[in-house]
Amino acid sequence: MIIVMKPGTTEGEIDRISKEVRHWNVIPEKLQGTHKVVLGLIGDTTELDPGQVQNLSHYIEQVLRIKKPFKRASLEFRNGEYSEVVVPTPNGTVIFGKNHPLVIVAGPCSVENEAMIVETARRVKAAGAQFLRGGAYKPRTSPYAFQGHGESALSLLALAREVTGLGIITEVMDTTDLEKVASVADIIQIGARNMQNFSLLKKAGATGKPVLLKRGLSATIEEWLMAAEYILAVGNPNVILCERGIRSFDQKYTRNVLDISAIPVLRSLTHLPIMVDPSHATGKSEFVPTMTKAAIAADTDSLMLEVHPNPSKALSDGPQSLTIEAFERLMLDINVFSKFLGRATQNYNKATIAKTKASPSVLV
Ligand code: PEP
Ligand code: MN
Repeated sequence: MIIVMKPGTTEGEIDRISKEVRHWNVIPEKLQGTHKVVLGLIGDTTELDPGQVQNLSHYIEQVLRIKKPFKRASLEFRNGEYSEVVVPTPNGTVIFGKNHPLVIVAGPCSVENEAMIVETARRVKAAGAQFLRGGAYKPRTSPYAFQGHGESALSLLALAREVTGLGIITEVMDTTDLEKVASVADIIQIGARNMQNFSLLKKAGATGKPVLLKRGLSATIEEWLMAAEYILAVGNPNVILCERGIRSFDQKYTRNVLDISAIPVLRSLTHLPIMVDPSHATGKSEFVPTMTKAAIAADTDSLMLEVHPNPSKALSDGPQSLTIEAFERLMLDINVFSKFLGRATQNYNKATIAKTKASPSVLV
């Protein structure tokens, strides 16, 4: 249940109402919207009569029941206002959200060595990315496949952050690694395979870091939003949802099926920012540019793109990784395409790309 306050309601009145509702064994959660304050009532509200709540104050504009199983994640919980995930990075604050410029996350599947991660970071930054992605702990189908360099890879991500100022997104697979990952990551990634690892969700949420929650391989949208609810329920409002393709019967030509319709569906259900990962969705770099544009056309707030300096030698996910040059070309296209659609982007500039290419990295 939510209580929508009239514009201009005093803090004192909001505090008084918050105290009153606690008598009904519910916890009020105050959400400051652009024009109005909304009080979300957390707990069992089945016995509460909206009329009784309305009578608490003539500053109450409306009392609404949230019928969806996901409460905090629902769009109603914020009275129809989309939320922002604000992430400070050394290069400046980046905001994920419907009314903000498109955010670009790029980098290799795995952090392989110092030269490759720093060089990739430098180049994707010059091309206009705000975040570097790279796995230290990799969820691999085979236990014999490369599992990621772990802690040493985290140090390399920290170095790349220091050199470029890019924010870092990296996956945590195990609660025991959470502290180490959180000390380096600006955003903690929960991978598709762990979307319903509820103890990991709760603990990742409790770190207070923003969480990027990837959609499970065969997860329904509702299961995905319920997973987000776990993070929100521990008091962490900073969740970004990442569509990365779902399983289908035909995996011959693409790895997964990118559910483009998830974007408008999420928009109608949740206030949370949306990311699309066309790399894991298609599994083939040749299809990534087209699906990137499709995601922008469907109004995604951000994109995650796998980029590798030498995809044929990548330790994981080479076939879906863009070369740095292909990423640079795509970024120029993204700029034009987004502008055409009226979505602001950062300034992707040919001159910066050329300059960065010309100056050799200090580490290579
Ligand atoms: C990844 O981002 O490298 C990854 C493993 O993604 P997903 O969990 O979507 O498969
Ligand atoms: Mn990958």
